[in-house]
Order: sequence, then structure tokens, then C-alpha cells
Amino acid sequence: MSLPPLREVIARHGLSASKALGQNFLFDEQLLDRIAAIPGDLSDKAVLEVGPGPGGLTRALLRAGARVTAIEMDRRCLPALAELGEAFPGKLRVIEGDALAINHAELMGEPFAIASNLPYNVGTALFTRWLDGEGWPPLWTSLTLMFQQEVAQRIVADPDSGAYGRLAVLAQWRSNARLAMKVHRSAFTPPPKVMSAIVHVTPAAMPEGVSAKRLAQVTEAAFGQRRKMLRQSLKGLPGAVEALEGLGIDPTRRAETLAVADFVALARKLGPR
Ligand code: SAM
Repeated sequence: MSLPPLREVIARHGLSASKALGQNFLFDEQLLDRIAAIPGDLSDKAVLEVGPGPGGLTRALLRAGARVTAIEMDRRCLPALAELGEAFPGKLRVIEGDALAINHAELMGEPFAIASNLPYNVGTALFTRWLDGEGWPPLWTSLTLMFQQEVAQRIVADPDSGAYGRLAVLAQWRSNARLAMKVHRSAFTPPPKVMSAIVHVTPAAMPEGVSAKRLAQVTEAAFGQRRKMLRQSLKGLPGAVEALEGLGIDPTRRAETLAVADFVALARKLGPR
């Protein structure tokens, strides 16, 4: 299927990148195909894409055989996306709206992969929402998401590193998260100030007897004062210091030295919130 070059689509539809909407477009079709390959075989799979813009990643996902639902809040992009839909009949559904205001599981109604070159200003909010909550496993089967490299590193960070914190625990306690690809800033139009990277996340087994809310409370307290010893940072959480001792974790340690499994064990011992 021959599609017009993305630069031509942008020019024809007058799609100058809007800073307010976090728009940095990708035009390199080979790069886009490599991104669309990260989730694995997509033929006839349902995929949710947030922020398709002029449709670069969208066309790569469609080429990979996916059935794509794309949520875009910039109306200016809709004619370009409608054109793309005509080239892949019945395979592209475009929803105009704010992805933060939409229930994605309800919208999709079947297991789906998420793939997105996220607007940086809403990226972390959406990511947190997809990983949060008591219901697990989620209806989504994988996340393939572009972040600023610094945020990607925080998501996949190991203990004892400056990047390790709440985001790493959230992304790793019942999911597998890996850095799938680094993307140079020059790949975007306009180029953002910083480098980017794609993170790939798949749901794993939910640890038994652990409440997501309790875990969030524990990590918030522990990393809220990350330079302090745990016995100090967890002081406000009744029973936490005793629970640490019960688990054989020295309360003079600092939050960033604890493994994800240690936080999970602590949340389990404290019980539901
Ligand atoms: N996917 C395209 C690409 O890779 O070239 C565009 C990526 S651009 C970084 C982010 C896109 O998300 C923009 O098209 C922007 O309009 C859209 N967007 C921003 N905030 C959004 C929101 N809350 N809901 C849906 N789309 C949003």
C-alpha cells in the first residue's frame, strides 16, 4: 500500500506542531515500523493509540495488521486520519477527545495493546492510571510508550540508583518493564530539548494479599523523604517500622536500597488500607 509521505500530509493539512498540545511528530517510516514491531505480532490485534497526530505511528500499526482505535484531541488532525482510514478500510477508528477523560477498557471492550508516542505533558498521568488500581490483570496486554529518556530510566530503574523511586515500584511490582529503544531527539519535528526512549511493559502476576493503595501509601512515604532512614520516613504510618523489623529489613536503611519485592512484602504485612 503506498501512502503519501508524512511531510506531505502535514503540509497539505496545515498541521504545524502545537507546543501547547505537546506535539513532536515522527516522520521516519522505518523508525515507525520498528516501534510498531516492539509489541510483537499485531495482526488482527486491537490496539489503542493515544495522540496519533498526523498518523505516523498509526500507519505503522495498521501496516503491522492491527485494528487501531486512536484518541486525538487536536481536531486539525482528523482529516489526515480520515484519509488514512480510507487506505485501511474498517481498521481505523478515530475518537476525538481527551484521552485522560475516557475509560479505555470500556472504549475497547476486548483485550488490547497500547502503543503511543505520548504527549509528554499527559504521558506520566496516563501511565500511572494504566498501572494503578486494584483490578489486575488489566484488559491491556502491553504498553509500548515513548517517554523522555529520563522518565523511561525512572520506570525501569533498579534499586540503589538515583532514578529508582515510586515510578519504578509502580511499574515493576506486578509488571515487567524494559527499555525497548532509545530515540534521538533529531528524529522528531520539531526536536524536543531532551532525548526520548520507548518503554515496553507487560502485566505479570499480581502478588497475593497486597493492596495497590497500601503499596502506593508506603512508597509515597518512603520516597517522599528518600534521603532519610526508613524509620524516620515511615514514622507516620502506624505499624510500618515494626513491620520492617518483622521482615528482617534494617529500618536504618534508606528507601532506594529496598528491592521492589521488599516494598511488596511491607505492604502485604501492613494489610489493606
Ligand atoms: N503520534 C504522532 C507522532 O508520533 O508523530 C504525534 C505525537 S505528539 C508527541 C502527541 C499527540 O498527542 C499530538 O497529536 C497531540 O495533539 C495529542 N494529544 C495531546 N494531549 C492529548 C490528550 N490529552 N488526549 C489525546 N491526544 C492528545
